[in-house]
Amino acid sequence: MPVLTRAEKLEILADAAKYDASCASSGSVKRSSLASGGIGSTTGMGICHSYAPDGRCISLLKILMTNYCMFDCLYCINRSSSNVRRAAFTAQEIVDLTLDFYKRNYIEGLFLSSGIIRSPDYTMEQIVEVARLLRVENKFGGYIHLKTIPEADPDLLTRAGRYADRLSINIELPSDDSIDRLAPEKSGPHIRKTMGTLGRRISEARAERKTSRKAPLFSPGGHSTQMIIGADNSDDGKILGTSTSLYKGVGLKRVYYSAFSPIPDASSQLPPAAPPLVREHRLYQADWLLRFYGFGVDEIMTGAKVDEAGRRHLDLAIDPKLAWALRNREHFPIDINRADKAMLLRVPGLGVRGVLAILKARRFASLKLTDIETLCRNVSKMLPFIVTRDWTPGSRLDDANLYARLAPQPTQLNLFGA
Ligand code: SF4
Repeated sequence: MPVLTRAEKLEILADAAKYDASCASSGSVKRSSLASGGIGSTTGMGICHSYAPDGRCISLLKILMTNYCMFDCLYCINRSSSNVRRAAFTAQEIVDLTLDFYKRNYIEGLFLSSGIIRSPDYTMEQIVEVARLLRVENKFGGYIHLKTIPEADPDLLTRAGRYADRLSINIELPSDDSIDRLAPEKSGPHIRKTMGTLGRRISEARAERKTSRKAPLFSPGGHSTQMIIGADNSDDGKILGTSTSLYKGVGLKRVYYSAFSPIPDASSQLPPAAPPLVREHRLYQADWLLRFYGFGVDEIMTGAKVDEAGRRHLDLAIDPKLAWALRNREHFPIDINRADKAMLLRVPGLGVRGVLAILKARRFASLKLTDIETLCRNVSKMLPFIVTRDWTPGSRLDDANLYARLAPQPTQLNLFGA
């Protein structure tokens, strides 16, 4: 096996970590100043952005401990049968890198994941050791997000939660059938059971902290998961149903959706092409409706588009709240000055902040359209659905072309554009 330098390992293991969306990162075009003699490069991997529990945007060193893996999940570039360059960091090397980057002000924390080597327990022990060395030996106060291994001993997960700000376990696929087929060494029920254990420990620790500030922390930022979209034939109804049951059943803080990207030497069980990226975007929008706008999956999916195989999908052309409103026009128009918060949240184009601003402002005056324009950003989208003191949509809601008028118009790509 060739001996790799630290920089070579970093290149391999940061690149291998880019497929994990459960700490969201930003994208950019490839650009490098290596040839020009200038400065800066966007081609390097390894630093991503995420949000701390208090809402701050933070930069993280995002790497795998190793991309060797004894499992053979078909959708994964690091699976045991994959022909990729492999590398492994020791726990101390990751600690040194993290501290080094932190001191240079490149990062504010670490997102650490790993392929599974020797056994789930051995791998989890190494991950926990990185967090222990950082927190205990080096008094590291930065952010730590650890990807945990559901098959590992629960005591190791407990230790991980003591050091980490956030834990996550990737469920990866929306149905147990798909997990059995594409990730045969994994088990959907076992993953959910471990998530449930994490969720309970997080709530217990929060309750203990309320009675004593000296009670130990346990993953104060909660726990999250990632689902790959388009690697199996699950429809959007199934995906959102799985997310809802995870939010309710195991106290998950966040589900991240990651569009499947075709990998080299892929199994014939996988689709040859990636799903449209906008599908991932629509799922995120629907997920927000579930978590913050009081919608249920059935409401979002009833009347949704059905493909030739009978699968229900979100409309890719318009956002799911607008799609719901157009299918349920009998609930509109909504009087901005009288409607309760739950109905205001259902107005297309009106976000949570806008609703709160309206509720506050209308205590002092009956609102006019100009007031709504001051308080909210996307008023043109709302117009067919609202009534104000000086505005009524008239027959706009009955317009047979309303969908076409509200759907964003396709734009012609410019071959010579900037
Ligand atoms: S266990 Fe994780 S790293 Fe290993 S093949 Fe499966 S998804 Fe990839």
